Amino acid sequence: MNGKRILVTGGAGFLGSHLCEKLLEQGNDVVCMDNLFTGRKDNIRHLMDNPYFEFIRHDVAEPLYVEVDQIYNLACPASPIHYQYDPIKTGKTSVLGALHTLGLAKRCHARILQASTSEVYGDPEVHPQPEDYRGCVNPIGIRSCYDEGKRMAETLFFDYHRQHNVDIKVIRIFNTYGPRMSMNDGRVVSNFIVQALRNEDITIYGDGNQTRSFCYVDDLIDGMIRMMNSRDGFTGPVNLGNPGEFTMLELAETIIRLTDSKSKIVHMPLPQDDPTQRKPVIDLAEKELDWKPQVKLEEGLIKTIDYFKTIV
Ligand code: NAD
Ligand code: UDP
Repeated sequence: MNGKRILVTGGAGFLGSHLCEKLLEQGNDVVCMDNLFTGRKDNIRHLMDNPYFEFIRHDVAEPLYVEVDQIYNLACPASPIHYQYDPIKTGKTSVLGALHTLGLAKRCHARILQASTSEVYGDPEVHPQPEDYRGCVNPIGIRSCYDEGKRMAETLFFDYHRQHNVDIKVIRIFNTYGPRMSMNDGRVVSNFIVQALRNEDITIYGDGNQTRSFCYVDDLIDGMIRMMNSRDGFTGPVNLGNPGEFTMLELAETIIRLTDSKSKIVHMPLPQDDPTQRKPVIDLAEKELDWKPQVKLEEGLIKTIDYFKTIV
C-alpha cells in the first residue's frame, strides 16, 4: 500500500461518497467520517468490503483522534432545507468542525482541504464572481447559518495557516449535481428531475430568471483532488464550478425535454435571500490546477436522470 491515509469528513454524503470512491481507486487508505445527518450508508455500501475503506459514525463538532496524512473537510449539510432545519447546529458543524479538523491537521502535520462554497459571495453584486470578490451576505437571514458558518470556517483556516503554519487548501464549490444527490433535499436539479419523472408540476421559485452555474460531480471531484495535491504554498481560495450559466426556467425546460415529461411549470414564492445570479470565474483553477470542467449540462443531466430513474 503506497497511498496516503486520508480522512474524508462528510464522506457518506453526495460529494463525499464520490470523493471516497475516487481516492480508493487511486490507491489510498480512506477513513470516511459522517454522522449520517444528510448522508446515507447506501451511498458508501459498495465501498464497505474494501479493506482500505473504514466508516466512522462521528460528529465533526466533536474532536476525533486518528492518524492521517490528508483531511478533506466536507461535513456540513449543503441544501437550504437541511441547513435551515437546525441552523444553530449548522453553525456548530461549520465552525467547531473547522476547529477540530484544523486541530487534527496541526497535530498530525496533515494537509487539510476545506469544502467552502460560492455562498460566501452571498447575493453577489459582482458578476461573474472572482475569488477576490468579498461578497454580499446578510448576517442575520435564514441562509446566514450556512453562509456565515462557511465564511468563519475560511477565516479559521487562514488563521491556522498564519499562526500555526498548517498546510491548508480552500475551495469554493459552485452548485454541483449528479448521481447520489438526495431525492428530498430540495435542491433544484434533484427536485426538477424527480418532478419531471413523476409528471408532477415543476416548482420554479420566483419568476425563474435567477441564474446558477451547474458543475457535474465528476468534474468537481477531479478539481478537488487536484487542489489537495497542488503545489506547496498555494492555499486558494479557488473557485471550482462550471461557468455555463442558466436560468431556472431554462433548466426546467431542458429537464422536461430530456425526460420527455408531461410536467407543467408552476411558480412558487421565492425564498428569502435567494441569490439572483451566480457564475464562477475559474481562471485561477485553470492556471494553478490545469482544471476546467469537461461535462456539458445536458450530458451531465442525462447521467443524473438515468440515476434517478433507478430510484424514483
Ligand atoms: P451532503 O448533505 O450530501 O453531504 C454532507 C455530509 O456531511 C452528509 O453525509 C452529512 O451526513 C454530513 N454531516 C453533516 N453534518 C455533520 C456533522 N456535524 N458531523 C459529521 N458529518 C456531518 O452535501 P454535499 O452536496 O455532498 O456537500 C458536501 C460539502 O460540499 C458540504 O460541506 C457543502 O457545504 C459543500 N458544498 C457543496 C455544494 C454542492 O453543490 N453540492 C456546493 C457548495 C459547497
Ligand atoms: N429552486 C426552484 N425550484 C425548486 C428548488 C430550487 O426554483 O424546486 C431555485 C432556488 O430558489 C434557487 C435555485 O433554484 O434560485 C437553486 O436552488 P438550490 O437550493 O439548488 O441551490 P442554491 O440556492 O443554494 O444555489
